[in-house]
Amino acid sequence: MVGMETSPRQVNQVMAGTGVRRCVRCVMPENYPGIAFDAEGVCSFCRYFEAHWGSWVASAKEQARSEAKLRRIFEAAKRKGKPYDALLGISGGKDSSYCLYLCHKVYGLKVLTFTRDNGFLSDEAKQRIERLVEAFGVPHLYHGDPLTFKLAPVFMRKTGHFCAPCELSTFNLFAMIAREYDIPLVILGSSSRTEAPPPKSLNPWDPWYFGKVLKGELYRERLRCSLYARNYLVREGLARVFGRRRIVILPDYVEWDEKKIFELFERDFGFRFGEEHSDCWASGVARYLYSKKCGGNDPRVGKYSLLIRAGKMSREEALEQLSKVEDNLPPPELDRFLELIGMTRDEFDEASERSPDPYLTGLTRLFNALRRRVRRQAA
Ligand SMILES: [Zn+2]
Repeated sequence: MVGMETSPRQVNQVMAGTGVRRCVRCVMPENYPGIAFDAEGVCSFCRYFEAHWGSWVASAKEQARSEAKLRRIFEAAKRKGKPYDALLGISGGKDSSYCLYLCHKVYGLKVLTFTRDNGFLSDEAKQRIERLVEAFGVPHLYHGDPLTFKLAPVFMRKTGHFCAPCELSTFNLFAMIAREYDIPLVILGSSSRTEAPPPKSLNPWDPWYFGKVLKGELYRERLRCSLYARNYLVREGLARVFGRRRIVILPDYVEWDEKKIFELFERDFGFRFGEEHSDCWASGVARYLYSKKCGGNDPRVGKYSLLIRAGKMSREEALEQLSKVEDNLPPPELDRFLELIGMTRDEFDEASERSPDPYLTGLTRLFNALRRRVRRQAA
């Protein structure tokens, strides 16, 4: 279904739930890339969630057990007596802000924080980061990254999406700083229980895919020795195997209630986080592409479906909310985005029909399988 043509009128019907079959449990539609339904009409995403998170969600005992496991991991890191116990990237968004709150305030870790400003970081996010760093009194590094702007049009032109350089360099930066400061834990705030990422087919970002896309491009040789170099991922894998460092996906271990997180930061800091991924000013462009490539569906279908599975939203409420979602129109920030990456609207529209498929490798598939294993660590 990737690249399927959908007129605004059809999109409306899809969103209203009149023209599309949906999972009987959540609201995932049949035209979502990679979805499958079983004989009972339950979607493959619900079945995955049930297998990996079903008992966690249903059992307070299991939640307490995973929280105890988290405490053991943190205590072990503290016992290493390094200058910092944990490395934490903060983007000014709700999840990383909550990670900082938990690590610093609740679990008493010595954290080093960093922010990668790839040029897409919103002003509101920068202000929130400053407030948080000051309020918690934690050390913080900024990493400016002018290459992202140069790589974004290359990826957009060839693969129909532009987020891969940001994803890969974020991972590599984590790895680089963790090595440089000898930090035993890397904390991440995005879990398969709390976040519905775009289909992997839409936005792969592993180094092998990255290298293949950049084949024949000006930047390839320059990037070989930069932050985008391919060996970080493998090195981090080895660091994990030899017990030197561990990646902790924090929401895997503890309750992650969005409403409570919003309340906490509004009360203590006056923050209003706004839309999902509001820390990136180009997120509306990414959302527009997502919808275009996912059968006209808004990313909220994934988010609401997760909330339903976690018992935090009813299916009726989700359908009601989806019926209010408007047509997928180009976002207001598209002009600014196009100007910065030096693309015309026609070029962008043409590029948005492309897919990452020609650049996928066997290693990409292996990497995605390993990622799924990592994501099960708390279960
Ligand atoms: Zn479902």
